[in-house]
Amino acid sequence: MSKPLVIAIDGTSGSGKSSTARGVATRLGLAYLDTGAMYRAVTVAYLDSGVDGGDPEAVTRAVMAADVQLSTDPAHQWVRVNGRDVTDEIRTQRVSTNVSTVAVIPACRADLVKRQRAIIEAAPQGIVAEGRDITTVVAPDADLRLLLSADPEIRMARRRLDHGGQIDDAALRDQILRRDADDSTLVDFTTAADGVVSLDGSLLTLEQVIDTVVALAEHAAEESTDD
Ligand code: C5P
Repeated sequence: MSKPLVIAIDGTSGSGKSSTARGVATRLGLAYLDTGAMYRAVTVAYLDSGVDGGDPEAVTRAVMAADVQLSTDPAHQWVRVNGRDVTDEIRTQRVSTNVSTVAVIPACRADLVKRQRAIIEAAPQGIVAEGRDITTVVAPDADLRLLLSADPEIRMARRRLDHGGQIDDAALRDQILRRDADDSTLVDFTTAADGVVSLDGSLLTLEQVIDTVVALAEHAAEESTDD
């Protein structure tokens, strides 16, 4: 591949986009960007700052001041915020419950989009970036743009497995259905924009989804070298 390949994957929570993106990046030797981890990291910064979540300007100041460092190695993910390792903390219920507060503030999104574009541009070997607005806002010119979906029941069952079965139904519904509803107030990540490939992974294994995306990526890479 002569020029860096950029693959953009969007989808709802539990659609399998993170596992797919990591698997594809590993298979193709590309970097991996988990933009959700960035939203989660700045949420830790805003919660730690003690500002009122109902004050968008104060939340935005805390977000913009947050120094976020994260790994783009698909085999070894870590996240630091303001010098502190928050790799595990960003997956806690406290963060999952509060992340939409940040995600619905346009100024916070604009700040994170800028940081995400810088990371994508700095990946010499190419990158797989995943989130909610990668195909439409962050990297609309990506070589391959994909919207991954799965039935809500299947997404909840997968998330339950992620938690080793140790999560109650109310928390599951909060993590999947409530968060999708809140997140979709600013970003439409359930209908594919023009040129975005839709892939329903409900009845496919993770390996089958990865195989499909790798085949599409190889095709996209050939097309981009023909340009
Ligand atoms: O992907 P993940 O579930 O970790 O994302 C956490 C949250 O970050 C989402 O619920 C959403 O509020 C926000 N997000 C976003 N745009 C992205 C990625 C994540 O709004 N590109």
